Amino acid sequence: MTAYCLHMEQLPPLMAWWRKEYDVYVPVAAEGGHYDFAPWREGTEIAFDYDLAYNTLKRYFLPPSEDLLTFDLASYEAQAVFEDPKQILFGVHPYDVRAVNQLDQLMEAGAPDRNYMARREATVVMAMEPQRVADTAFWSTIGADVVSHGYDLHFTRISPANFMVEVGSVKGEELLLARGPLPAATAGDREAARKAHQKVMDLSRSNRLNFDWRHTPKLMEKGWNAGVWREKAELCLACGSCNVVCPTCYCFNVSEEADETLKTGRRFREWDGCMLVNFATVAGGHNFRTKALERYRHRYMRKGKYISDKIGELGCVGCGRCVRACTARIANPREVFNALWEDQANAD
Ligand code: SF4
Ligand code: SF4
Repeated sequence: MTAYCLHMEQLPPLMAWWRKEYDVYVPVAAEGGHYDFAPWREGTEIAFDYDLAYNTLKRYFLPPSEDLLTFDLASYEAQAVFEDPKQILFGVHPYDVRAVNQLDQLMEAGAPDRNYMARREATVVMAMEPQRVADTAFWSTIGADVVSHGYDLHFTRISPANFMVEVGSVKGEELLLARGPLPAATAGDREAARKAHQKVMDLSRSNRLNFDWRHTPKLMEKGWNAGVWREKAELCLACGSCNVVCPTCYCFNVSEEADETLKTGRRFREWDGCMLVNFATVAGGHNFRTKALERYRHRYMRKGKYISDKIGELGCVGCGRCVRACTARIANPREVFNALWEDQANAD
């Protein structure tokens, strides 16, 4: 794969150049010791060593609230709304690129979600090798430490002042070389990048699954009546925080409303989540998942089995966001998967 070497000092001028055409988002330190993505401006301090962005990047492709069409109540005419701002997401960790890749597949399947696709096509993803690991993360134990596609550029910090930048697309290479040629990465640079990856893998050893993650779908299938569902769900507040922060959750609800003149209106969608009490309410007021246990189990069935049945990958990338967001301390997929594994090991 083509790769270049970029000096730290060359990055701000490049960002300024990119910003002429794109909205550029970078990781920054946020309140409460967290990190988040924010617009880059001249002087923005990029948190190259952030451990985890508190909010998921899905909001750049699937905003929390989005208009789908506007309509005229007098003429019955409707106009579809597609917004596709040109944007660059700089510094996305590999597990988050994986999550975007999953959303791409799921939103494209069947009748493609054109609103999502429009935003996705207008977005440049610049990945970055993590330098630190969140204490709640377990991406390394489920093979989400690397990603082979879905990014335009991939940055690895190979020294305090240098990056090795791998090219993932023609668009990425054009943007990287927009201000002039760069030296090709040497064998030494590639070796330094390999060591940087190894270093972060060594840091990520503490949160492990007790089994090969590929067994998870089978485990879920056999664990339908496992005690872990009741034990954890008893404490669930049905707040939906685990859904909101998860990069692979993508459910939404569609509504319509007229404006105050009652002449025009809009159809819009907003994030929804399977942990919320009314998520599974259907016409006639019937709710087919009234119990916390049913909602809790459903969420893990999606992460551990249903998504895997569709695309052959776990529907969890091990980012650890839900673990942090859950005030009841019960939303840890690693703990749930391990509990199912122990259960079945004891039953055999
Ligand atoms: S289930 Fe939790 S750990 Fe897995 S991807 Fe979603 S937020 Fe991250
Ligand atoms: S598992 Fe935790 S974050 Fe998710 S709905 Fe229940 S209490 Fe909220």
